[in-house]
Amino acid sequence: MRLRNKPWAKEKLLNYPQFVVHHPETWKEKWHDLFGNNHPIHIEIGTGKGRFITEMAKANPEINYIGIEAYTSVIVSALDRAIEAEVPNLKLLNMNAQKLIDVFGPGEIDRLYLNFSDPWPKNKHEKRRLTYKSFLDMYAKVLVSGGELHFKTDNQALFEYSLISFSEYGLKLKYISLDLHNSDFQGNIMTEYEEKFSQKGNRIYRCEVQFPT
Ligand code: SAM
Repeated sequence: MRLRNKPWAKEKLLNYPQFVVHHPETWKEKWHDLFGNNHPIHIEIGTGKGRFITEMAKANPEINYIGIEAYTSVIVSALDRAIEAEVPNLKLLNMNAQKLIDVFGPGEIDRLYLNFSDPWPKNKHEKRRLTYKSFLDMYAKVLVSGGELHFKTDNQALFEYSLISFSEYGLKLKYISLDLHNSDFQGNIMTEYEEKFSQKGNRIYRCEVQFPT
């Protein structure tokens, strides 16, 4: 993703505390209190400009959504979408997913989405892939027993790598499509990257895996 310098972005995030949660670690084990209900919590890591998480929040008011994005200059676009949609069930966190277990308590999350994660193709960068085993360790800690991870990408190498990583970790494969847009899967919500890459003719891969119960 090309990052534009947006010196004003940090201040804008501070101006919308109803959507952007600052010091998210203070809400560890208290996220339901923040949302003011006991609805399930679904998170997306690498939420980018926020189309997926905002549309999901609009479509499913009985689920609480949290979008996590490392770059301030990117998440500020997700904030614009949240402001426009006026959804009460969406929060945004400007942080690196490396901090996940500082921010969420054991079993606090019901489902985790990874959409078009950076592929980090060089072997020496394997540990940065969001489907690497150290990330799966973190997901296992914050997800409920039997919690699910839903993953979409157009990158065949990353998809293959991730399926092996999931399998080595003992996750159960519940759904797989090797060509999502030509499958009978209903209710797909496109991400910004998904639209861009599918318009180029790239195939979209998707799977759902379940952590042990
Ligand atoms: N999911 C969006 C989509 O499909 O349009 C964005 C995809 S973009 C290729 C990947 C995004 O993940 C980038 O915005 C990047 O900053 C973010 N990201 C990558 N690693 C991350 C991490 N460890 N923690 C938080 N965000 C991360």
